[in-house]
Amino acid sequence: MRYVSTRGGGEPQGFFDVLLGGLAPDGGLYLPDTWPQLPPLDELRGRPYAEVAAEVMWPFVREDVERPEFDRLVADTYAVFDHPDVCPVRDLGDGLYLTELYRGPTLAFKDVALQLVGRLFEVALRRRGRRLTVLGATSGDTGSAAMEGCRTTELVEVFILFPDGRVSEVQRRQMTTLGEPRLHPVAVDGDFDDCQRLVKAAFADEAFRAEVNLGAVNSINWARVMAQIVYYVSSHLAVSPDGSPVSFAVPTGNFGNVFAGWAARSMGLPIDKLVVASNRNDVLVRFLDTGAMESAEVLATTSPSMDVGVSSNFERLLFETGGRNGALCAEMMVTFSDRGTYRVSPAVHRSITDRFDGVRVDEDDVAATIAAWHGRGVELDPHSAIGLYAGERRRKPGVPMVALATAHPAKFPDAVEAATGVRPQLPERLADLLDRPERFDSVGAGLAQVQDLMRRHAADGR
Ligand SMILES: *Cc1c(COP(=O)(O)O)cnc(C)c1O
Repeated sequence: MRYVSTRGGGEPQGFFDVLLGGLAPDGGLYLPDTWPQLPPLDELRGRPYAEVAAEVMWPFVREDVERPEFDRLVADTYAVFDHPDVCPVRDLGDGLYLTELYRGPTLAFKDVALQLVGRLFEVALRRRGRRLTVLGATSGDTGSAAMEGCRTTELVEVFILFPDGRVSEVQRRQMTTLGEPRLHPVAVDGDFDDCQRLVKAAFADEAFRAEVNLGAVNSINWARVMAQIVYYVSSHLAVSPDGSPVSFAVPTGNFGNVFAGWAARSMGLPIDKLVVASNRNDVLVRFLDTGAMESAEVLATTSPSMDVGVSSNFERLLFETGGRNGALCAEMMVTFSDRGTYRVSPAVHRSITDRFDGVRVDEDDVAATIAAWHGRGVELDPHSAIGLYAGERRRKPGVPMVALATAHPAKFPDAVEAATGVRPQLPERLADLLDRPERFDSVGAGLAQVQDLMRRHAADGR
């Protein structure tokens, strides 16, 4: 198994190169050169999540990791989740299901991938005798998930930039109370776009990049998509005993989660429709309607992890549906960055709408969905409510519909309380989060300040 760039440049790479490199040198995203096929579903049915996970992911990593080591690593990864099924599936009746992806340490679905990525970093870096400095920007969920994921390895130092005063208290405290000197939350005097711009600028500084051996954990990392394929398979096993097709409704921002559904389907999982559920930031839903992608200004909503104006992982789908033509894909991305828009051919548009459906959910419907399901004993956060609302609208008789729940309600307590009148409680293990001592650095929104800070901490660590 080799990995190719969606923009067609460079030589095919191995798994560890792709894991540590993140983005391809030509600016493209990595994809496997062929899709391996899943083992027969009956061989997976009834087995623990970690075993299913190891079977599903094995073809992607086999050239770089020994099987017993990989099995152990995957078992360790999912042992930290607080439910024996890891990603438990709830039957809501009438063919509707909800898969809870938020049972990991930071209460959002990003743990499913980042807990694994941290452990894979350790193996890859030990093998290569290197250390890594991870730099990322977060608007909320990614930062704490990345830090928790890298907590298990001494070989990675993590810096996460967050916009000062613009993440929720729970989200900030999940980063600032870890008490581990290698994990550095950094409050930036600016907004999320400033944080992202600083990260990009740091990566563009070749000398600095080499000096600290910079690595990335953002959602374009192939290993994150790979880990997310697994819960499509495990959910399918749970709701379709005869292996007949299942549909999924997926709360979407950067298109990483739902692209993993496309990957699962490409590996032979019988999937009917993938329903792209968006909030008011509906560039993807409008693309499905029209065949044209148009970047838009980002509006703030109660589901901030989906407040995205450009869905970076969509490039992977363009590559796939455009006949895996890297030059064509690169051309469209250039058009997009020049003009803020591109259009696909009617044939490509049809091949996408054949498999994907879109639902945009307004804020009133988010609140109404949280309230309605609260009345039936199902607690939802705003992101999960968007997925479930879309799933309810798009289900068909005879085809199970699985909505993916991406965050624990207590992660977004204000929105949930506003909808239901009841403030959701943090799980026991995080109950004292608001009392733990905080530690973080603060910088202005300038590259030199961020680099100085990173160098200073690197010197402390020596
Ligand atoms: C990141 C995130 C999403 C969006 O996932 P993408 O892979 O970016 O589409 C949805 N919900 C929650 C809670 C998230 O943290």
